[in-house]
Amino acid sequence: MNVIFFGPPAAGKGTQAKIIQEKYGLRQLSTGDMLREEVSSGTELGIKAKKLMDQGKLVPDHVVIDMIAKRIDSPECAKGVIFDGFPRTVAQAEALDKILAERGKKIDIVMELEVDQNKIVERMKKRAAEEGRNDDTVEALKTRLHLYNDYSAKVLPYYRAQGPVPKINGNQPIDSVTVQIEEVLQPEAVKTTGHARQ
Ligand code: ADP
Repeated sequence: MNVIFFGPPAAGKGTQAKIIQEKYGLRQLSTGDMLREEVSSGTELGIKAKKLMDQGKLVPDHVVIDMIAKRIDSPECAKGVIFDGFPRTVAQAEALDKILAERGKKIDIVMELEVDQNKIVERMKKRAAEEGRNDDTVEALKTRLHLYNDYSAKVLPYYRAQGPVPKINGNQPIDSVTVQIEEVLQPEAVKTTGHARQ
């Protein structure tokens, strides 16, 4: 079962992906986490990506597409993947469809986590204080929210053309958000694996 968690920055995609991956035996692939690893390891890719990330801008499509393609065949991904923060452009979505199709796989479900703008700002301030991420500044946040509005208006219709994209109310506490996600996932898990969970 391959799932996409789509939603604005600080919507709680990563938090939920970590909970769901344990319960369903899926693998979370977060392009943001991968890029931060490249930055902290000081790789050439990381050095280039850092400038864009710190400003809240997107890194080039080929960079994230390559990172996903490299990991998709790992044994941890055998039961399926939760894509978190990817795809963010139609080119990325098309590349992902192609990568999966080449392996006889597909995206089974896309969910949209919706979070109010004031909640997003609140969560980012908290995260900035806790984690000290370079892109949780006011300026970078503005860019990230602006870009999200821009790319979601293109990527969501791409997926809606393929099937329903259920909305999850991400304003609620973590547990309630997980319950909503599971309501969407359970029927899909039964369809693809014959079990409600792994
Ligand atoms: P958030 O969900 O809080 O915006 P992420 O950890 O998903 O944070 O991403 C952090 C940064 O990494 C983004 O602002 C962007 O610079 C880069 N990034 C992550 N995923 C992608 C992607 N799919 N395409 C382009 N850039 C990306």
